[in-house]
Parts: sequence; structure tokens; C-alpha cells
Amino acid sequence: MAQLFIRNTKTLHIRPNGRSADFITPNFIYGCAGGCRNSYCYVMRHNHESIYVNENVDQILRIIDKHLNSLPLKIPNQTDPKYWTYDIGCSTDVSLHWKHTNWLKVFEFFKEHFAAKATFATKYVNSKLLDFNPNKKVRIRFSLMPQNISLILEPNTSPIIDRIKAINTFIEAGYEVHLNFSPIVAYEGWLNDYEILFKDLSELIKEQHKPFIKAECIFLTHNDKQHERNILSNRFESEALIWKPEIQESKISEYGGKAVRYKAKVKSNFIQRWTVLHNRIIPWNTIRYIF
Ligand code: SF4
Repeated sequence: MAQLFIRNTKTLHIRPNGRSADFITPNFIYGCAGGCRNSYCYVMRHNHESIYVNENVDQILRIIDKHLNSLPLKIPNQTDPKYWTYDIGCSTDVSLHWKHTNWLKVFEFFKEHFAAKATFATKYVNSKLLDFNPNKKVRIRFSLMPQNISLILEPNTSPIIDRIKAINTFIEAGYEVHLNFSPIVAYEGWLNDYEILFKDLSELIKEQHKPFIKAECIFLTHNDKQHERNILSNRFESEALIWKPEIQESKISEYGGKAVRYKAKVKSNFIQRWTVLHNRIIPWNTIRYIF
């Protein structure tokens, strides 16, 4: 289990992103105890042993404020038509680690800022967040995959059906909610499982919310060192799903790390088939990007 450390971070850079958000904030928390830490989680490629809770929240917020002051008016893009978006949970799970820092102060900052919106992906439904109404200035991206492989790849995270039901609840509490199909893992029968997932979404998301739902869709990446560590901890079933050298190739990730992904031709075939199924069952969902 990862060890928890309290500290002040000195890494105070804001990184441009352009996918999940316009920018990535400095880490409020770096590390995670999530159920996916011993399978595909990219944070674990760099920090498996520790969870650093960065106490200098005020300093980080001042840096974000200064950064915002340096920006021109937002030009609409796929991250948001109106606000500059900041991913506040790129290196942790905000809902899971809710009690470990003053997230409410962070949420409050974004709620009150005229030009900014916060966003984070999560695999956990935490009803404590419902006590706060962010007035649509915090976007939660519920991470979704078929339940049968979620049990193998991300044990002890919230059941997929609970994440789907939470979409209505969180929208009605004042959050903006998007879907995060990540990672998309291809295996024998994957599209049958995605059909079930899409049908559940179609059935359980209220009609009035559907026009506002959007999704990011990200196919699996993995890493050789992470694979070796997972095998050493006997994660054979999980690794059989995500380590497939015959259809994977090496790549250098956006921030310079080594990773493997599905081979380009294989992936474009996967994307095409997944998108056709998606468009047949949940055409109301806008795909923000897929890769
Ligand atoms: S919840 Fe997110 S950050 Fe935490 S272990 Fe899973 S993938 Fe990693």
C-alpha cells in the first residue's frame, strides 16, 4: 500500500494540455490509492510507492490565478466553449482522496472565477461532493468501462452502474458531467460488453440531461516496467487483458514517458468499430475526441 506524505510541493508549473482540459494544474495531490494502481494507471509509472498531499493549496491557487490573468479571452474549443479549463486531478482521484485536502477551497476558487472551470476524471462516486453546488464550474468526468473487466482491472472502485446513476445526481446537484471512456481495452468479446454499457447509459441517463453529455475516449496505453511490476505481484488475469505485445507498439507519451499503445492500423480499426457501435446506441453523446 502506498505511504501518505504531507509536504509543500515546489513543482508549481501549469502545463498546457488541450485534451482533457486546456491546462493541467500543479498537483494538489500526487499519487493515488485507487483500485487501478496495479494495472493500467499511468500515474503509477512514475510514482507507485507514495501519495504526496501538497499542503500549499493557497500558493497553487495563486499561481493558477496569475496564469489566468496572463491569458487572452477564451477561444471556444473542444475542452469548453466559454471557460479556460484546468484539470485538477491528473495525478490522483479527487473523489477517492476527498478527505485528504481542502478540495472545497479549490472548487470554490473555480466557482467564483469568471474565466475558469475545473475538471477531473474519477472512478469513484463520493456523495460528500454533493454537499457543494459548483454552479456548473466544476466538470466531473465519470470513467467508464464494461463492468466485467472493471472488476479485473480496477477492483474496489465504484461499480459501473453506480457511476452511471451518479451522472443524473451530480448534474442535478450543480456539476457539469462528462463521460471518460478510458482506458478502452480491446479483448475477445469487447464490443459485446460495450454494447451493454452503452445500453445502460441510454436507459439510465435522463432524457433532459443527454444533450449536455460529452465524452473523451482514450484507448489503453501501458508500460513495460509497470507490466513487470504487475506480474511480480501476480496480476496475471489483469495483465492478460492489457499486455498484448502482438498488437501493441512503443511510443513516447505526451509528457515524455515511455509507453505502449495499440499499433496504429489495429487501433484505427478498433476506433472505427467502437465508434459505429457508439453512434448506433448513444448518438446523443458528443465525442470530444477519440484516440
Ligand atoms: S483512480 Fe486514477 S489515479 Fe487512481 S489509481 Fe486509478 S487510474 Fe490511477
